[in-house]
Amino acid sequence: MSSLFERSIETLRGVGQKRGVLFRKLGVPTVGDLLELYPRAYEDWSGVPILETTLEQVCTVRATVCDPPTEHRIRGGRLLYKVKVTDGSDDMALTFFNNRYIPTLLKAGQEYLFHGKVQGNLTRREMLSPQFTPADRARPIVPVYPATAGLTSRQISAAVAEALQLLPETVSDPLPLELRERFHLCHLNFALEHVHFPAAQEDLSIARTRLIFEEFLVLQLGLLRIKSGRRGQNRHPVSPDFPEDFARLLPFALTGAQRRAVTECLKDMAGPSPMNRLIQGDVGSGKTAVAAALCYRMICGAGEQAALMAPTEILADQHFATLSRLLAPAQIRVGLLTAAVKGRPRKELLEDLAAGRIQLLIGTHALLSEGLRFQNLGLVITDEQHRFGVDQRSALQQKGDSPHLLVMSATPIPRTLALMIYGDLDISVLDELPPGRQPIETYLIDTAKRARAFAYVQKHLDAGYQGYLICPLIEGDETGLMSVDAYRALVEKAFPRASVATLHGRMKPAEKEAVMAAFSRGETQLLISTTVVEVGVDVPNAVIMLIENAERFGLSQLHQLRGRVGRGTARSTCILLSDAQNEDTLERLRLFRDTTDGFRIAEADLKLRGPGDFFGSRQHGLPKLSIADMTQDLALLQQARQCAHELAHSDALSRPEYRGLLGQMRRLFRDSQGVLN
Ligand code: ADP
Ligand code: MG
Repeated sequence: MSSLFERSIETLRGVGQKRGVLFRKLGVPTVGDLLELYPRAYEDWSGVPILETTLEQVCTVRATVCDPPTEHRIRGGRLLYKVKVTDGSDDMALTFFNNRYIPTLLKAGQEYLFHGKVQGNLTRREMLSPQFTPADRARPIVPVYPATAGLTSRQISAAVAEALQLLPETVSDPLPLELRERFHLCHLNFALEHVHFPAAQEDLSIARTRLIFEEFLVLQLGLLRIKSGRRGQNRHPVSPDFPEDFARLLPFALTGAQRRAVTECLKDMAGPSPMNRLIQGDVGSGKTAVAAALCYRMICGAGEQAALMAPTEILADQHFATLSRLLAPAQIRVGLLTAAVKGRPRKELLEDLAAGRIQLLIGTHALLSEGLRFQNLGLVITDEQHRFGVDQRSALQQKGDSPHLLVMSATPIPRTLALMIYGDLDISVLDELPPGRQPIETYLIDTAKRARAFAYVQKHLDAGYQGYLICPLIEGDETGLMSVDAYRALVEKAFPRASVATLHGRMKPAEKEAVMAAFSRGETQLLISTTVVEVGVDVPNAVIMLIENAERFGLSQLHQLRGRVGRGTARSTCILLSDAQNEDTLERLRLFRDTTDGFRIAEADLKLRGPGDFFGSRQHGLPKLSIADMTQDLALLQQARQCAHELAHSDALSRPEYRGLLGQMRRLFRDSQGVLN
């Protein structure tokens, strides 16, 4: 098919310059791209007898025009045509507005398919301006394309039909025969023809299966290639033994899951090539201790340096406080670098780092700055990875000579999806929370009960605890959603004696920092915030959280928010306020109320909102798929993944019949150039 990707869209019959521009706007510069512009839906045009149509439903009927259309003029000089059609079972009246071509398009005695909403009453059927097509040219299933201004679905469909004419001579199937036979997949020709113009539902599903499989396979092959590209020599080997002397520094015993994760990482770090691993653990599962164990091993065991990058200053500060205290008895010097560290202290810090006097550097993006040099960086850890792009992760790695990489994610991701998105990483899961955690009680109430909820918060304040109040917006707007601004007034009135602070994403980093620090020291009792408080902040004395307009948040986001409480030994509460009436929304919120298992919540969120929500748009650096859907086609994903592994571990890909597949891979990853070698 490659030659069709070199043939510009304007060369198609009926496209031309003007439409060419519109197609390019749709992301379709070539004929090949047009064939990959798959329908977003299909309409059933198989036709039902007029007598069996249902009122107020969109139907297709096959009927003959009885008499020539009659012309009527209505107010404003507008033109109207009436046509009577029949299919033997019944008659139907059609009305068309302002289309003077109707008399030439609809001929008496000819048969057509009419598609539209059926109106009328028990005895009379009627359609207003239905779509229609001559019966002898009709297709039983009509594709619907993502139209753009100036380009209708029908026009796209016509262009696709032209493009399909070019197929037989030009196409060679990127999936070699042996794979098609093994996985029972059709030829590309059949797939393209029937994904656009299926003769029957069954053909459509055969076509889709094949195209989805190929796309997943190509994606997985690309990810595996990225992974093997990183497989250099391990230049920072450590002992794989569990660091028991580190464990003795901790004020608690590590959980089984934590020990397992440390062991898995050390096995990588002792192995033949550098570690590339993701640790997934729910909020509070204790990822920091795992990171610390590995830093300890790298620094005390191998005498090299480690770096830990966090997405916010608040988090970097917190890690610095925890880890410098924890590692001090082992004579490990920990440094902190954020945008707030400037001038002389910064210069000294960089000198100490380059000379190896600082062994563990913690910080934000500032760790990526020019001029920052390690003496010998053996281990790179990024916390809350979904906030970092793939590029940033590798930029930090560049500061060393192929250091080990550990990525820590607090967003539980269903395993299948994680395998897909982190196809270039190995995965460990912390599936156990430290003992003694009190479950967080969650309530769902409507705003009529807000006063009662406030009273409940007051009770906690009186007992010396602190609380979070979450709003979806910073400033009020016309949507009627609660904003931080409006809420502050409400809260100050309801809690006249409490000290209240506000936090949101539009504040300067230093301001946010100050607010968070004061809350953390217990100087403020109530913190009104947007979701900026979501990531990793640890204030054990804050035991109650109220979330306004809870329906506005995704499940995973709610889960992250709720994870801010329940971090100490006291009983914690999370109250969701929502006046949502929609049954699906309530269902979602109830599911959240009734479970605290992050992985279950993530599964549900994935089904409801798709994978985009987990990572923000394209932050994961994964190429955009055109037909496969990671949330719907999991069985095919598994098959394709298995197949990709087998191919990558055999010599198949060097055989000529696999050349097409490699070409597809380069095309899919063309926007991530540099990542793929
Ligand atoms: P997260 O995985 O969300 O980053 P943290 O590493 O911040 O979790 O740990 C959450 C809290 O649990 C911290 O206060 C930490 O000291 C505590 N903790 C971690 N591991 C254990 C353990 N094995 N036993 C008891 N408490 C633990
Ligand atoms: Mg953490």
